[in-house]
Amino acid sequence: MCGIIAAVAKCNITKILLQGLLRLEYRGYDSAGLAIVDKHGNVKRLRCLGKVKNLIKKTEKENLMGVIGLAHTRWATHGIPSEINAHPHISEYIFVVHNGIIENHEQLRKKLISYGYYFTSETDTEVIAHLLHLKQKQQGGSLLEVVLKTIPQIRGSFGMVIMDSRNPSILVAVRVGNPLVIGCGTGENFVASDQLALLPLVNSFIHLEEGDIAEISQNKISIFNIRGKIVNRDLIKSNISHDITSKGIYNHYMQKEIYEQPIAIKNTLIGRCTNKEIDFSELGVNIGIFLKKVKHIQIVACGTSYNSGMVSRYWFESLAKIPCDVEIASEFRYRTLQVRKNSLLIALSQSGETADTLAALRLSKRLNYIGSLAICNVLCSSIVRESDLYLITKSGVEIGVASTKTFSTQLTVLLMLVIKLGSLNGMQLELQHNIIKAIKMLPHRIEQVLTKDKLIKAIAKDFFDKNHALFIGRGDHYPIAMEGALKLKEISYIHAEAYAAGELKHGPLALIDNKMPVIVIAPNNKLLKKLKYNIEEVRTRGGLLYIFTNQDIGFKNNEYNMKIIQLPYVESVTAPIFYTIPLQLLSYYVALIKCRNIDQPRNLAKSVTVE
Ligand code: GLU
Repeated sequence: MCGIIAAVAKCNITKILLQGLLRLEYRGYDSAGLAIVDKHGNVKRLRCLGKVKNLIKKTEKENLMGVIGLAHTRWATHGIPSEINAHPHISEYIFVVHNGIIENHEQLRKKLISYGYYFTSETDTEVIAHLLHLKQKQQGGSLLEVVLKTIPQIRGSFGMVIMDSRNPSILVAVRVGNPLVIGCGTGENFVASDQLALLPLVNSFIHLEEGDIAEISQNKISIFNIRGKIVNRDLIKSNISHDITSKGIYNHYMQKEIYEQPIAIKNTLIGRCTNKEIDFSELGVNIGIFLKKVKHIQIVACGTSYNSGMVSRYWFESLAKIPCDVEIASEFRYRTLQVRKNSLLIALSQSGETADTLAALRLSKRLNYIGSLAICNVLCSSIVRESDLYLITKSGVEIGVASTKTFSTQLTVLLMLVIKLGSLNGMQLELQHNIIKAIKMLPHRIEQVLTKDKLIKAIAKDFFDKNHALFIGRGDHYPIAMEGALKLKEISYIHAEAYAAGELKHGPLALIDNKMPVIVIAPNNKLLKKLKYNIEEVRTRGGLLYIFTNQDIGFKNNEYNMKIIQLPYVESVTAPIFYTIPLQLLSYYVALIKCRNIDQPRNLAKSVTVE
């Protein structure tokens, strides 16, 4: 989940590395470091706890000059966030930055200590540096040869870049389980864990594939497989502008991304949603024949993506009449699975690199699934590349750690898929057309709900002194309650839980008192009557009710302990997407008044590439 950037160039690369780290900071931010070597082999390593800006301050005091180097923002997995645990890690002349986990680090550490190696950090990464050093001492050879010989000894996941300060012209990059991309320039080349870091520098990229090892110099890039055989990888031109990382008129990326949802959904619909049908010809000419065979959907996902999968389960079953199961990827992969007949596995992930979802996808290939479909926001991601089929959510880059626009666009894609599968499974034409109409209206509906911004901002003040909150909903709005609770937890650090409203009396009612906010998602649907009983259950016990609704539910605003957040009209089928927006705004404003770091909440990172 950390960020890596490395460069080999003609000019001083200090600024390039620091700017790259700033662009990667959203991925992990507990500490940062860099190592730079000048033409004569003089190395400087600087590391510090906390944000990249601390590292920048440190570099300002030194006159750093160098043409080759590597840098890292860490998201600690082994060893506390501290300066000594920050990367790069070194073993005399070997420098390593690493993203991921070395599973057999303890065993390797013992072995290395027995050879006389001394460890200065608690990280798993340091074993890589010493292991490479040992191999170099024992067997000699170029950095690439040493890396090739060492990799079979390391178990786990590692995107890493290695440098030997005695030969300051070569970087070696290894991708096993964690993504790396090479940015190809003229007389200079770069490597990063995320294309975003390189956007201002180059527009040609090579995405390393699983097991690739690249040897990179100023003028040459050679890529090998794990056996040392040369492999060819495509050079991809990108037209993504590097301005995408600007916050524009907004104060935070999360706020910007909440407001981008109408356009993100429009983009996701373009070319796929005509007035009468869903066009998924991007999935191939025979896609209709394939989808017709699908009799069960198995969704695997984590976090927010899991919540969107949960919403879609209601849709797949009630609209397309196809049974659907949704499972957290980290559970799915370690369970004895009984695969249903003609089951399609759907891997849902924003980044397409989520370690557990990727592992679940890989596992599914050994099982009897009819095929796999990725729904992701990043085209060149591992999950997209390794799935049989993929549908991209066209949200654009999402930088706020708390997902917003990728949730609503995932749901948009899933709902289109529901119509597509439904149409092959006997769904009435009229129903198909009504859902299509509703999806097409969605960007407009969201624009309307965004006008409630000020109202929600005012309500957020009530949460300033709260430590707990409950979110309740029914049917396809129960997962929306889950998503609302997740957002509040993530960025405001208020303990929040979601319950299917009918479950209140089976335990959570015991928590209700006049300090407990209960957020109710109460759209106008056939479950509203039942939901009102649950509202009553909370009201009679003195709970603080915040009811998000778009019709008259028979209570008045500020009556009893009750605040009603009156929302505009929305079609029933798309209501779950619509109701997510005010909940995102609520978390945003609560986090704002609590002075939280909204875009980079503590202990979290954007793309979870470790298990
Ligand atoms: N496992 C390594 C560490 O704890 C790398 C973590 C990361 O991906 O940032 O230092």
